[in-house]
Amino acid sequence: MKKIVLDENELPDKWYNIQADLPTPLDPPLNPQTQQPIGPHDLEAIFPKALIKQEMSQERYIPIPEEVKEIYRIWRPSPLVRAERLEKALKTPAKIYYKWEGVSPPGSHKPNSSVPQAYYNMKEGVQRIATETGAGQWGSALAFATGLFDLQCRVYMVKCSYEQKPYRKVLMQNWGAEVYPSPTNLTNVGKEIREKLPDTSGSLGIAISEAVEDAATHENTNYALGSVLNHVVLHQSIIGLEMKKQFEKIDDYPDVVLGCVGGGSNFAGAAFPFVQDKINGSHPDTKIVSVEPLACPTLTKGQYRYDFGDSVGLTPLLKMHTLGHSFVPAAIHAGGLRYHGDSPLLSKLTKEGYMEAVAYYQKDIFDAAILFAQTEGFVVAPEAAHAVKAAIDFAKMAKRDNEERTIVFANSGHGHFDLSAYDAYHGEDIIDYAHPEELIEKAMTELPNI
Ligand SMILES: *Cc1c(COP(=O)(O)O)cnc(C)c1O
Repeated sequence: MKKIVLDENELPDKWYNIQADLPTPLDPPLNPQTQQPIGPHDLEAIFPKALIKQEMSQERYIPIPEEVKEIYRIWRPSPLVRAERLEKALKTPAKIYYKWEGVSPPGSHKPNSSVPQAYYNMKEGVQRIATETGAGQWGSALAFATGLFDLQCRVYMVKCSYEQKPYRKVLMQNWGAEVYPSPTNLTNVGKEIREKLPDTSGSLGIAISEAVEDAATHENTNYALGSVLNHVVLHQSIIGLEMKKQFEKIDDYPDVVLGCVGGGSNFAGAAFPFVQDKINGSHPDTKIVSVEPLACPTLTKGQYRYDFGDSVGLTPLLKMHTLGHSFVPAAIHAGGLRYHGDSPLLSKLTKEGYMEAVAYYQKDIFDAAILFAQTEGFVVAPEAAHAVKAAIDFAKMAKRDNEERTIVFANSGHGHFDLSAYDAYHGEDIIDYAHPEELIEKAMTELPNI
């Protein structure tokens, strides 16, 4: 079977919360000033109560509201596809599947969380949401979702992406959002950074600081984050829950589960239902591997410790793999996945050995994406190309070992708005770059000692 599809009535009714199955509990988020654990009340200035509850919930399954499912049905359940033509090109005995999130209106997995986030804000009477976006994927997913629930949306878009990727901005505007290049003159944080670093190309950390300040200083406004946090990972579990049902249909179970990691949400969403089986011992040997760029090697080279989520230290301190909150990605890096930290849940499960991580140079990931496009047809986002590269490597290992393994990767989105990166690839302008260890060590000296 080429495409394993589920009926609409097989759409999962509940999200899966891995907090219920962790062998030891997550280290709590800390107040950035006092360094004491924060309670639900501390987050109420910027998040709706329902999402704070999900963030801290220990319930294994959380029901998906009917209004959210109704919107999910526009593109979900998403297909699980066998990449047979890629297998043939690689002459591998492995079966390669990908879970395709490029079918959503914004073209990625991100609306799996933007839709419930907009919904819960609307339910609690919030009128406006401020957020940041890097490449524009999260901004467009939130613009799409807020539009459906009649909320206003302001997006602080990292300046270099705003300039390099004007079409994502247009997409956000089509769905009714306002978009500004960050750092802006609209927040105190933005003004200060522009004074100190007039030539800055911006970073996700800076844009987060701006959006958080916006939300904290406007009564009718909340903040929304597109990755990292537990409630985002929870919403993304729809991916892995569907995958499990799809593998049941073909009476198979993956030996290897792969996905790209920026803040970790798409891969955590795809992988955690399989990590659950690893924790409970029903499938202890599944290899579950995060893939990241060597230009932003958070899991492979970062440290597991408390750090801020943003550049200036407005957000709670999170225990996670981090390159340091002062990390600014190299401008020549075209492959996405540029955030300095990672989901605390994914970080912990990696630290404890339930998951592992690999990192690649960007030329290799574009080579992989081109082979995928020429065999399977779809042009994937550069982020997703990391997962494609890893799938190819694992398929080659299966060939070497002459074993018929089942490999699946989370294919997080299409690359139709990333053609300038592909253009750079064709012009041989893609330069390999690894984030230097010295910079990581230096950034670590700026972290609070906890
Ligand atoms: C945002 C994005 C990512 C990275 O974010 P995660 O939270 O790590 O999933 C990966 N792929 C695509 C297509 C994205 O838009």
